[in-house]
Amino acid sequence: MKEKNAERKTAVVDKNAKAGEPRQEQREKAEIAEKPVQQEAPIPAASSAPPSGERRFRQTDLPAHFIERRKRPRISTEQPPPPAPPRFEDYAPIIGKPELDEIRFLARHLRGKTVKMVNSTAVGGGVAEILNRLIPLMNELEIPTRWDVITGGNDFYEVTKGFHNALHGGEYNLTQQIRDIFMSYNEQNRQRMEFAEDLFVIHDPQPAGLVRSKSPNRGKWIWRCHIDLSNPHPGVWDFLKPMVEQYDATIFSAPAFTRQLNAPQYLFYPSIDPLSEKNRDLPEEYVNKVCDDFGIDRSRPVITQISRFDRLKDPVGVIEAYKLVKKYVDCQLVLAGGGATDDPEGAVVLQEVMEAAGDDPDVIILNLPPWSALEINALQRASTVIVQKSLKEGFGLTVTEGLWKEKPVVAGAVGGIPTQIIHKLTGVLVHSVEGCAYQIRYLLTHPEFAAQLGKNGKEHAKENFLITVNLKRWLLLFQILLGMARPNASL
Ligand code: UDP
Repeated sequence: MKEKNAERKTAVVDKNAKAGEPRQEQREKAEIAEKPVQQEAPIPAASSAPPSGERRFRQTDLPAHFIERRKRPRISTEQPPPPAPPRFEDYAPIIGKPELDEIRFLARHLRGKTVKMVNSTAVGGGVAEILNRLIPLMNELEIPTRWDVITGGNDFYEVTKGFHNALHGGEYNLTQQIRDIFMSYNEQNRQRMEFAEDLFVIHDPQPAGLVRSKSPNRGKWIWRCHIDLSNPHPGVWDFLKPMVEQYDATIFSAPAFTRQLNAPQYLFYPSIDPLSEKNRDLPEEYVNKVCDDFGIDRSRPVITQISRFDRLKDPVGVIEAYKLVKKYVDCQLVLAGGGATDDPEGAVVLQEVMEAAGDDPDVIILNLPPWSALEINALQRASTVIVQKSLKEGFGLTVTEGLWKEKPVVAGAVGGIPTQIIHKLTGVLVHSVEGCAYQIRYLLTHPEFAAQLGKNGKEHAKENFLITVNLKRWLLLFQILLGMARPNASL
């Protein structure tokens, strides 16, 4: 009966909705606004948070062991040894043998061609993570691929970090000294490195200046841009653009991230590795153990957002959405993230999140160490609904991870997320706290629809966002650049 009411009320439109706000959002707001309040979770004043940062929970019906575990989650303090990297053949059960054979066929023509990939860090960050997986696979396919990392002093990394923020639209004062620092470190690296390969793949702006080593009779040069260039600082972009235009090809992660360029552009989605600790299948007992370690009650729905504690991920908005949902559906919210120890802003945001959660014991906040891939995998698998309510986003790999785990995903319609979520087909897109609450509640009360979204989402991720798809794109692009395939072959 409740559900029937819910469906009927979707016809009501919020007259207070902002002009231009999507109709669906108006309906969602009206829906939430019209429902009677059943249970109000009071938001305590900021000053009521215990000084230690530990949250104080109110008396509840929750069994004591959950409360205890939520106060003191069992978080692993030691980094486990890295697992052995998977072999190419290991992907057969996931993508099927014909797909594997197709990749082998493409690779056969490139056998013996040499590749050099260059970026600015061997550890940390998504680029290093992808290269760690991609390069062994290319070598296994007998395409000798070398990974070089440029070096630089603190002054260089300060400049490149400034560039990174400026290219995302931030303010920046680009002086001649900054230009000189950037170019002189690029030049030092260029002198130190040899460029004897057939293909050079330069990742992101930091080493972009290496292209000065391009010679007309040796090798093709590719610039792989992992960042969103849709709204760059004009001065910084004007400085980098002439370098970028010397490349034989440029690659962007989403159609919206590109710029007008006098160089061919290709679209390569970021990818996840289905065999990594973050994404591989897990035994149910392990998922249960992780839930037990963190005090998660698997008998009730679990809504999860995995994200750094960053305002652009809107964790407080997620708590507000959860509170709206909680009035009608008994559920728990897990907010798991990391980075709060080495990122001063992360610690501040974590505090804001704890204050917003107040004394509600069903909001489980986990500050996880960087080696928590298996735990994150388990949390995603234990979730009934995965949320990524970002206000700004790059590609949004947590969305990809959720889709791959066949979960219904509710996510902000920003950055690369709409590429991954086709609204109401592979997940749902939202634009507000109320919209987010409406969609979570709808999914919790329509499990068949939620399951269908999960299935479609997994298929979409399999078709587009797995490392094997990424590998295939590289092989096709290499063939095009080396004149072995026509550029209009499907990429
Ligand atoms: N992640 C993690 N630990 C955390 C928070 C996030 O390992 O505490 C992972 C998450 O699973 C995903 C990546 O970090 O693989 C975040 O990528 P995304 O593109 O979603 O966001 P970014 O942090 O790059 O803005």
